[in-house]
Amino acid sequence: MSIHSSASPDFTHLNGLLEPASPAEIIRWAATTYAPNLALTCSFSGASGMVLLDVMLRVNRDIPVLVLDTDVLFDETYSLIDTVERHYGIAVQRIRPTITLDQQAAQHGPDLYAHDPDRCCAIRKVEPLARALKPYAAWMTALRRDQSSTRASTPVVAWNSKHSLVKICPLATWTERDIWRYINEHDVPYNPLLNQGYTSIGCHTCTSHPLNGDPRSGRWAGFAKTECGLHG
Ligand code: SF4
Repeated sequence: MSIHSSASPDFTHLNGLLEPASPAEIIRWAATTYAPNLALTCSFSGASGMVLLDVMLRVNRDIPVLVLDTDVLFDETYSLIDTVERHYGIAVQRIRPTITLDQQAAQHGPDLYAHDPDRCCAIRKVEPLARALKPYAAWMTALRRDQSSTRASTPVVAWNSKHSLVKICPLATWTERDIWRYINEHDVPYNPLLNQGYTSIGCHTCTSHPLNGDPRSGRWAGFAKTECGLHG
């Protein structure tokens, strides 16, 4: 399938072209259109991110891989980042908050995540991501429509006004089943916590096993919060 870049901001038309494309074709289009001003973010938590990383590296090995290191990721997540660097021979860029956990506690009190998770996410995830994405014109993430009701209408390509760049979701149309088929067929490394009943993984402080059928119900248990604020 041939997909040509377009100078037009008409993403509706573009999405019509990209909707039936494979993730590799979408990544190829994204690289042709935006590289070197294109980056991939990967949380090293969910299975989708690992698939997107694997597909991308088969298409283009020059696209920067960014991870938000909040300082409170699971040990398994930190280990996976190291494993991926060795497995694929790449260097992952770790994006850190501007303040340490101790500085955050001094400024906002201890355990900010437990009483004001929005503020904690703003400091440890949202600001670092905004800073990391500033040099880029486009950003690829592994969001899928079937991950939650809040992601059900995720387009393949969209203008992200929060970060003022183009957001590309090459796996938007893939299902959980597609993801695990790919992982098994290509022996893709993934977070071992997914074998322990976790269905959505973030910071260890704010992640528990799912509370109901919603895969993201184990995130920020006890709060109405369902997203970090990264994808608004
Ligand atoms: S997920 Fe929890 S610990 Fe991590 S940045 Fe958000 S509130 Fe803080």
